[in-house]
Amino acid sequence: MDHFTYQNGVLHAEQVSLADIADAVGTPVYVYSRATLTRHARVFRDALAAKLPRLHLAYAMKANPNLAVLKVLAAEGYGADIVSGGELERALAAGIPAADVVFSGVGKDARELRRAVEVGVGQFNLESEEEGIELAEIALLMGKRAVCALRVNPDVDAKTHAKISTGKSENKFGVPYDRAAGIYARLASLDGLEMRGLAVHIGSQITDLDPSRQAFLKMGDLMRSLRGQGLVVSHMDLGGGLGVPYKQGEQLPTPEDYAAMVAEVTADWDVTVMFEPGRVIAGNSGVMITRVIRVKEGVAAPFVVVDAAMNDLARPALYDSWHDFLAVEPSGERMVANIVGPICESSDTFAMHRDIDAVKAGDLAVFRTAGAYGATMANTYNSRPLVPEVMVDGDKWALVANRIDPAAILAAEQVPEWLV
Ligand SMILES: *Cc1c(COP(=O)(O)O)cnc(C)c1O
Repeated sequence: MDHFTYQNGVLHAEQVSLADIADAVGTPVYVYSRATLTRHARVFRDALAAKLPRLHLAYAMKANPNLAVLKVLAAEGYGADIVSGGELERALAAGIPAADVVFSGVGKDARELRRAVEVGVGQFNLESEEEGIELAEIALLMGKRAVCALRVNPDVDAKTHAKISTGKSENKFGVPYDRAAGIYARLASLDGLEMRGLAVHIGSQITDLDPSRQAFLKMGDLMRSLRGQGLVVSHMDLGGGLGVPYKQGEQLPTPEDYAAMVAEVTADWDVTVMFEPGRVIAGNSGVMITRVIRVKEGVAAPFVVVDAAMNDLARPALYDSWHDFLAVEPSGERMVANIVGPICESSDTFAMHRDIDAVKAGDLAVFRTAGAYGATMANTYNSRPLVPEVMVDGDKWALVANRIDPAAILAAEQVPEWLV
């Protein structure tokens, strides 16, 4: 459920008209609903808390790292799952305690590891034995012990888009399942590390719970065999990945279904269970408003050329993703059209032969479910501005990220004297 609804024929975020925001800020612009973010954070937390006595939630901030979004989720008691030094500084800036930060990612460099040890990051999810050895040396030099989990690649197919699948043996993530016990034992013997658990994350936009269940069962077996060797396993990080409906009416497993599956698998584990949800919290909490530049005649269907493009919302170009397209003030008429942006790439296409609200030049529309992996993936390709972001809370709204104009980007470039 979200708080984007039609009121008097105009699409609103909570009590604010999206037409008013578009008029004030210009388009394209992302709009987030605080009530929706809070609701999703609570639904996910409450479903798991009802079943799991020891629970740690770290919001996967790569889904949407906007500072205002982080503040809302920090207030709901979420820590942060980070994948870079930049995300670490953002999490700290949002007031998330370092102790509630989980540092994931396959390529943490020495500088990032040092900084994370220095601020006291709560858990490092190690992606290799090599990384563990390097971190142990860094921590020892600083007179500290880094608390760690070992990320394991369970070789399970998450049955999602290939580019967001992370748990197959050919994916770069984690250590191979068969070698995990040996690596865990060797890392546990290092003075600079405190190995306390295992981590797994098999992919994103997961719409079938069975692959996750298979992966978690395998992790349980591994946990038991480590304990059998006298090793400590007090924390099990089951990652993120739960999918969200991108099409109106789509039925997906709910957080309650997910919690029931996890509770069944982990019933006798006796651990703190950790999660790293991203999309399920942020996805349906945001839309991107765009304005139709013109409608161009096509051969099979007209092209609705909008002022948002693949640089603003990359998911359709990257993953062939579907985003519902709705007019902000629908007339009730329908049309079948291709929706495209202005960028000089054929991949700058949001939809083909889509049955949509009829729109014409100057009309406003939104792409729904744009709150996760939206603005954060934006770039300035074709010398376009960096898209701004707005947060709505009841009848209030504010810009939470400015539009960055091409002039500012140009001003950051220089031509050396010797070149000309
Ligand atoms: C991306 C990622 C997540 C979050 O995935 P969602 O599908 O957004 O829930 C969690 N953990 C890790 C390690 C990730 O890379």
